[in-house]
Amino acid sequence: MEVYSIGGFSEVGKNMVVVKINDDAFIFDAGLYIPAVIELQEENIKDYGERHLRAKEALPDDLILDKLGIRNKIRAIFLSHAHLDHLGAVPHIAHRYNAPIIGSPYTMAVLKKILDDEKKKISNKLVTINVNSSYVLKTKTSSYAVELIHMTHSVPHTTMIALHTPEGVVVYGNDFKIDNTPVLGLTPNYTALKKISKEGIKVAILDSLYCHSETKTPSESVARNMVRDVFSGLHGTKSAIFVSTFSSHIARLKSIIDFGKKLDREIIFMGRSLNRYVSAANEINVVNFKNDVRTVTYRNQVASMLKKIEGNRGKYLVVCTGHQGEPGSILERLSMKKLHFQFRKDDNLVFSSKTIPVPVNIKNKDEMDKRFKKFGVRIFDEVHVSGHGGREDIRNLIEFLSPEHVIPSHGSYQRLLPMVELGKELGYEKGKNFHLLHNGQKLVI
Ligand SMILES: [Zn+2]
Repeated sequence: MEVYSIGGFSEVGKNMVVVKINDDAFIFDAGLYIPAVIELQEENIKDYGERHLRAKEALPDDLILDKLGIRNKIRAIFLSHAHLDHLGAVPHIAHRYNAPIIGSPYTMAVLKKILDDEKKKISNKLVTINVNSSYVLKTKTSSYAVELIHMTHSVPHTTMIALHTPEGVVVYGNDFKIDNTPVLGLTPNYTALKKISKEGIKVAILDSLYCHSETKTPSESVARNMVRDVFSGLHGTKSAIFVSTFSSHIARLKSIIDFGKKLDREIIFMGRSLNRYVSAANEINVVNFKNDVRTVTYRNQVASMLKKIEGNRGKYLVVCTGHQGEPGSILERLSMKKLHFQFRKDDNLVFSSKTIPVPVNIKNKDEMDKRFKKFGVRIFDEVHVSGHGGREDIRNLIEFLSPEHVIPSHGSYQRLLPMVELGKELGYEKGKNFHLLHNGQKLVI
């Protein structure tokens, strides 16, 4: 078995792994490097083609597969979940492969929205399989069952992909945290995990982004309480309340709606990416926000809604894009006084998010915060818990699965280094059955 670390091993983003067994190869995820395209998030991403995105190093370097003679051996593209750093490259590179794209219902619904939004057409067959079910792929020489095992993270229908091969099970768990009291959806499927562990896991590729955090990441129900707590302190205010969170974080949006309703304000969702993820969730009945929320998407709708809010700021709760200070996002434009709403003293701004620790985001968010503070806005920062497991989540999972080989993923070499210590504690040896990789490496197991 050969494992190729194509993307996401030298940075946080553009996740992509290829596993090759004999004459068959499989792609796990194809993500974007978001900091490289941050200015395209809100507007105009359709204007940027594959060549431009490659030049910006926003796509995983899958051209290497041509050089290695693997491109024509790709039999399927598996998607683990609906985050852009895992599926955002699909519209731009899928045409290179004569292979179906396989993912869970929410993941595939989001992919279809992105393809529609960006007016992109790909001819790959799109295969949706329910979480906690499997699909059989037949090739000329073999047959492979792929199982999508439910895992908890920060977007609905996140899955751990288990590919059953003649050489043992390949597990791709990128991303996850272990949450036994999620706000929305199922707990991790321990029965299925136990089953594949008994079958024998050859290699596990695991999200290790937060392995430096020496704890277990709190449950999403903790974040729900944080939202409840902040909102309960805002009862009776006549000032504006704006909230920003990850557009794909449907569980968080549910908490914001549930406690927002108690403030007796009309809830407005504002921004294109919010509309994309929420409408995908509504369509496949992951949630039903339709009666609780008014969504405004296009620039003219946003402008007239904000004018209305300006005159009645005590009547609305606005959820909008821009928690990372992304250029072109609603919050960023509000902070620059580019929209028809002027923040003033005692207005409230809740960030149900954390700044992604890359220089461009830190700079954008800091500068935006400074502008809001000048207006006298009250800022509630980091009303949030992460979707990535800490060291103790990762330990639990490795102990549970007991894979023969472990490959930490989702970060640069430096960022994944703390995993070496954890690996040692669990009886693994670096270079033998525990592998720290850079982008573009080949590992033979
Ligand atoms: Zn993710």
